[in-house]
Amino acid sequence: MTRRIFWSICLVAIVVLLASLALNLSVVYDYFTKSQMNQLEMQTHLAAQGVQADGLEYLSALPDADNRITWIAADGSVLFDTENQSGSLGNHLEREEIREALDSGAGQSIRLSETMNVESLYYALRLEDGTFIRLSANQQSRRTLLLSMLKPLGAIILTALIISAILAFQLSRRLVQPLNTLDLDHPMECKAYEELSPFLERIHSQQTQLKQQEAQLKQKKREFEAATWNMTEGLVILNQHGNILSINRSASQLLGISGYGVGKDLLLLNYSPEVDQLIQGARSGEPCEKTVQIGGGEYQFLASPILTGGKVFGIALMMFDITEKQKAEALRREFSANVSHELKTPLQTISGCAELLSSGMVQPADVPRFSGQIHAESKRLIALVEDIIGLSHLDEGARDMQRETVDLFALAQNTVESLRPAAQAAGVELDIQGEAAEIIGIPQLLSGIVFNLCDNGIKYNHPGGKVQVFVESLPEAARLTVQDTGIGIPESEQERIFERFYRVDKSRSKAVGGTGLGLSIVKHSARLHDATIEVQSHIKQGTTITVTFPKGEKQP
Ligand code: ADP
Repeated sequence: MTRRIFWSICLVAIVVLLASLALNLSVVYDYFTKSQMNQLEMQTHLAAQGVQADGLEYLSALPDADNRITWIAADGSVLFDTENQSGSLGNHLEREEIREALDSGAGQSIRLSETMNVESLYYALRLEDGTFIRLSANQQSRRTLLLSMLKPLGAIILTALIISAILAFQLSRRLVQPLNTLDLDHPMECKAYEELSPFLERIHSQQTQLKQQEAQLKQKKREFEAATWNMTEGLVILNQHGNILSINRSASQLLGISGYGVGKDLLLLNYSPEVDQLIQGARSGEPCEKTVQIGGGEYQFLASPILTGGKVFGIALMMFDITEKQKAEALRREFSANVSHELKTPLQTISGCAELLSSGMVQPADVPRFSGQIHAESKRLIALVEDIIGLSHLDEGARDMQRETVDLFALAQNTVESLRPAAQAAGVELDIQGEAAEIIGIPQLLSGIVFNLCDNGIKYNHPGGKVQVFVESLPEAARLTVQDTGIGIPESEQERIFERFYRVDKSRSKAVGGTGLGLSIVKHSARLHDATIEVQSHIKQGTTITVTFPKGEKQP
């Protein structure tokens, strides 16, 4: 800046200097020429008097002078010349100053001398005898004048440069210092010179605008994070280079990335070939989808490009936990296979017996046995189909069933009574004790729970064994306990008995008409009532299953 100001000032000074010099030169030059001409005029008059008095003698007696003197005859021939042989000179009548002198008595001119080849001043006078006396002097050239001024001129230019440098230094310091000390964080508090005010006001207004925009952006970011933070689905927003711009809690947990991952490359923090492929795919502008296994769970990853004007400037990566969905699908597949298998066995027996009976090959004495078998298998089939229907109804959420206030004790008493014939047939003592315990529930499903638990207690028991039902009313819950003295369940199997078609002893279950679905129905019914199930069992000692129902109202 200082250098620029210095050179600007210098340039101005030099231009002004040269312009004034040129002007001065021409004025001085004119003045000089005029005074030289006046001097020449005066000397010509003196020479004229001398020539008129003494003629050629006067001229010959003149000492060597700077000025050239020429005496010209009336016909133009040169009679005398101080610098040339008079005979060698041509006719002078056509010379401008001679022509003028011929007309008016005196003449002058400034021109290139034909004989001397220099710029010369001429002054001529016509004498009384018709001859002309002419004096000429070499004119001082402009160059000579300029050269004579060179030294003082150089001194002036040097002085101008020094003054310019000092001025430039001081001026630039005065200009630049307030700029260097500007506090751009608080532009309106700056006490710089007036000309800076528009600039400072502009900065101030832009800063205010930027602050407002920043606040708005922060607010939007907070809103976005608040909205996405609690989403169960994982969400990661990446820029076009794959760096994390935003990551919600579910995604952080799933990918094992803390909040400090923002700004970093997702693949560097947690590399997975599937995610890499998804990001590559989304970068090409196409949404991509993949199933990714993480920590025993299954997740559906969806990468969508974020496009602006047809260009990908970010990627939204969403993660859905599909573990349960996949499990449910696997269970459904397994269930269908099991159902087909379970239905096939009794149907084959029925079909076989019926075939034998219809062929007439069965002895009359055996007919009751075969038809009894058909009857038993049909009953098993009916029980199986009923349980399957019941279970799929529960899978649907049993929405058509009404919830109402139910006295669990009264309901259990009725169910126990319905099972008394079966208990007697099995030689098992069936007993119920307890107190009124009201809960909100679906009576049919609650009956099903009591029925299945008691039925199992009877079925997996010994003749002479016991099944005891207890109903307790607790402050916050109602508790149903079915305790038997039966065969018991091995500890390793206790978890699995609630699975569909799972039986500890398949042949025994089938022998007693079990379908393998009773406890699944109990589990689903209990779940619809928010009830918890607890199993305690010891081999050859018996089993106790406790179902605890909360008393609060359950919204369907
Ligand atoms: P099932 O129709 O075969 O009885 P469940 O789902 O009711 O089917 O029971 C699953 C399996 O759990 C039964 O096959 C049986 O092996 C075992 N089980 C259930 N309850 C008892 C119990 N009270 N005592 C012993 N074993 C039981």
